[in-house]
Amino acid sequence: MKKHALTGLLSIGLMVFAASWSYAAQVVIYSARKEHLLKPLLDVYQQKTGVETRYLTDKAGPLLARLKAEGVATAADMLITVDAGNLWHAAKQKTLAAVDSPILNRNIPKKLRDPNHHWFGLSVRARTIVYSTERLKSADLSTYENLADQAWKGRLCLRTSKKVYNQSLVAMMIARHGEAATEKIVRGWVANLASPVFSNDTKLMEAIAVGRCDVGIVNTYYFGRLQKKKPNVPLALFWPNQQGSGTHINISGAGITQHAKHPKEALKLLEWFSTEEAQRLFAELNMEYPANAAIKPHATVAGWGTFKGEDLNVSLAGKFQADAVRLMDRAGYK
Ligand code: FE
Repeated sequence: MKKHALTGLLSIGLMVFAASWSYAAQVVIYSARKEHLLKPLLDVYQQKTGVETRYLTDKAGPLLARLKAEGVATAADMLITVDAGNLWHAAKQKTLAAVDSPILNRNIPKKLRDPNHHWFGLSVRARTIVYSTERLKSADLSTYENLADQAWKGRLCLRTSKKVYNQSLVAMMIARHGEAATEKIVRGWVANLASPVFSNDTKLMEAIAVGRCDVGIVNTYYFGRLQKKKPNVPLALFWPNQQGSGTHINISGAGITQHAKHPKEALKLLEWFSTEEAQRLFAELNMEYPANAAIKPHATVAGWGTFKGEDLNVSLAGKFQADAVRLMDRAGYK
């Protein structure tokens, strides 16, 4: 009897050992960031540390639903996704663990991380004004709010309000101006539209380039991609709200999952993401700005000029997201 129990214990011990041995150095990532923006980074990490990673890429919604449905059984150690609104939801659904890391706290500015430590911004994108250099000068532009002025009637193009980027932009305006003032601005935008809303930022910019409208709002890296493809495209970025609240910024970022099987290894990887070598790759692969303020953006991105980004914590994009969606619906922003 005694011997039998001992054998049982030994074999359990062996199983645990085998399990920890075969998975010890493998971090599993669910990523809404596409493979070509992630794999080069993970390859460098593996070369440096020997730590292997596996990843599953999908859109943020399905990944979050999967993480929640899998619960304690999930294989995911880390979630990477774009937009603070998505990260806020992941934390709200209790899929992310609170992390206390002096390295992350030092490398990532406070406004780019969750006040409750569940997620951390790793790169920054600005959602800013883009305009026709053939029909406008930068001096004609000032703020997001000003695009609601009737002077812009029939000259504005916007992407759909269904996209989280616009929900975050409006959510941050609610955080700053309150709902009533924000609704007035959004109604003004809708009244000024030159065309039905666009399904993506690139189509919007192409519409400006061919003269369907003069001005719009886009994420900086889409402008970078278009400029790379068409170096002479007659468009430029403008940094709005420089005298006041600053240009709207958002992040792509990551958190450790609540039920991570390799939380220590995942945290090491997340911390590495915040350091110089990884920050450069993370930002440059998608023409974004490094979240770590000590690191300069790539020359192409730096060429768009410097700007003041808004100072509110990006988590407010999540907090006011539902209000923003309802507000845009009321205002007729499709
Ligand atoms: Fe995007």
